[in-house]
Amino acid sequence: MNNTKNLNNDKQAVNTADNKLTLSTGYRSLLKGNRDWVTKQLEGDPEYFTNLAKGQSPEVLWIGCSDSRVPANEVTNTKPGEVFVHRNIANVCVHSDMNMLSVLDYAVNVLKVKHVIVAGHYGCGGVAAALTNKQFGLIDNWLRNIKDVYRLHSN
Ligand SMILES: [Zn+2]
Repeated sequence: MNNTKNLNNDKQAVNTADNKLTLSTGYRSLLKGNRDWVTKQLEGDPEYFTNLAKGQSPEVLWIGCSDSRVPANEVTNTKPGEVFVHRNIANVCVHSDMNMLSVLDYAVNVLKVKHVIVAGHYGCGGVAAALTNKQFGLIDNWLRNIKDVYRLHSN
């Protein structure tokens, strides 16, 4: 009974946030997708997770956009363990961003990656937003970095 009630509440909450979403595309589908993925990996290699847990030695650090359409492993056709990834809106690298700097330091000095790639993408909403004079709220502070580069180099 409680599960049914929660299902209805979840569906309502999801529908309130975005009319296009349904319960089937909510977090439950993510959990099912993860279970299906685990099953598929184990069918292909029963030692898959045992081997993956032994450690990582990626050759590439990928700094990309948070945009859901450009997941690093999918767009590079790589597997877990092959690419060390940092993502933020508009793949910005700022000298004061301790998150990005920590990832970069760890990738270069501990993982000893051979390549660092800062990957942009077509149709980046973050870049497009930065090139307007509209206000978007908290993210305006982040987009300021792009606005400054644009202002200084737009000629
Ligand atoms: Zn983007």
